Amino acid sequence: MFKWSDSHKQLRMMLRKFVDAEVVPQIDAIEHEGAPPYDVLRKFWKTFGIGDMLVGEYKARRKKAEARAAAGGSGSGGGEAADAGSKKKPDPSAALDQGAMRALPIIELSRHSAGMVTALGVSMGLTPNAIIARGTPAQQDAYVPALLTLDKIGAWAITEPGSGSDAFGAMRATAKPDGDDHFILNGNKTFITNGPYADVIIFICKLDRGEPPERRKIVSFILDGEMEGLERSKPLRKMGLHGSPTGEIFASDLRVPISRLVGERVDDEDAGSARDDAKKTFTAERSGVLAMALGMIERAQELSLEYARTRVQFGKPIGERQLIQLKLAKMEVARQNVENMLFKTIESTAHGEPPDIAAASAGKLYAAQAAMEVCLEAVQVFGGNGYMAEYRVEQLARDAKVLQIYGGTDEIQVSQIARSLLWR
Ligand SMILES: Cc1cc2nc3c(=O)[nH]c(=O)nc-3n(C[C@H](O)[C@H](O)[C@H](O)COP(=O)(O)OP(=O)(O)OC[C@H]3O[C@@H](n4cnc5c(N)ncnc54)[C@H](O)[C@@H]3O)c2cc1C
Repeated sequence: MFKWSDSHKQLRMMLRKFVDAEVVPQIDAIEHEGAPPYDVLRKFWKTFGIGDMLVGEYKARRKKAEARAAAGGSGSGGGEAADAGSKKKPDPSAALDQGAMRALPIIELSRHSAGMVTALGVSMGLTPNAIIARGTPAQQDAYVPALLTLDKIGAWAITEPGSGSDAFGAMRATAKPDGDDHFILNGNKTFITNGPYADVIIFICKLDRGEPPERRKIVSFILDGEMEGLERSKPLRKMGLHGSPTGEIFASDLRVPISRLVGERVDDEDAGSARDDAKKTFTAERSGVLAMALGMIERAQELSLEYARTRVQFGKPIGERQLIQLKLAKMEVARQNVENMLFKTIESTAHGEPPDIAAASAGKLYAAQAAMEVCLEAVQVFGGNGYMAEYRVEQLARDAKVLQIYGGTDEIQVSQIARSLLWR
């Protein structure tokens, strides 16, 4: 079974050193004063060369796809979707390292700011992945490298005021063809991570060629943050996750050329649709929650253990009380379970068998609930101090709640898992 190697542990210590030195001193400004997280995230990425590593991997994949296309294989259109059939399974040992290298920065940053991880994940994960999946080579080159390095900040916009869990069914945002090579976009998006600051926005909507809404194809467009016809709200005030600015996006008669339509075509059914890409995005997002939950659980447990050893009431450290011990023991069970789920995900992905949507849902459901329970219990271990911002556990608890909501709510994960059991 996969476990952290010595080099992973070494990297982890380096990441922690950086986070303690560079991120922790900024946390109050980011969490309580509305400072955007992007400068410190860029420094994090640069210090560890993560952006350059991701760009290198992306370029190597592009090269392979082009070579296959030139040899007469698939890949005539754009993106990995067209190339998926001819993919070789990855080399497991390199892929195991790759999986660990992706999880460790998330774990370490989540110990202090799940919000920053969310801002990061949307910007260098969801947004470029939407373009990599189906974008033309020109679209990929224009946007992906700068998103992977965080030189540009990305946002991925599917949710609307009336469509959350039922993201596709209730979606109202539309793209109407305007002549042969332009579209007019209209629609409101809400709860969009990085929305207020993003340079690049993936705007997901329904193609309106006069069909009834339920038969409209899902398409996505690459928008710039500043465009005529596009407005954005200021960051919304939230319960937690303050390290990630969240906002609304309004498109009103926004006219865009076809070069902004991801994939630049809508009629070729073989090319799939943005609906499939969005589903893949949900799977990736759900797997990413495992690493976030692990970082938060570890931190909550660590703070609780220290407090339980040192806080004395009735003449004894509270850690000697069985009721407190039960909380600490349950935290450890949750930590082990979430870590094992993450290891399993890294291992199966490395062997070319990433979790399907039901498996990703099961992991996300468990990890989100475990993180919520552990972080709330940490507040309880701290008593009144737990309710005070200075002791940090209240932030962990406020942040953990979002894991049960975004990327599909707990209830949606339950139905996804049950449906896969019932009807597979
Ligand atoms: C901090 C934050 C950041 C976000 N970032 C983004 C982003 O970057 N991009 C983006 O597009 N979206 C984003 N979202 C939106 C997020 O994905 C949605 O909030 C989420 O999918 C839930 O949708 P909703 O809020 O409309 O809730 P609703 O769908 O209205 O759900 C309300 C309640 O009803 C329950 N429910 C709904 N349908 C069912 C059902 N069939 N069976 C049982 N129960 C059901 C839900 O589980 C929930 O408890 C973000 C949200 C938050 C809070």
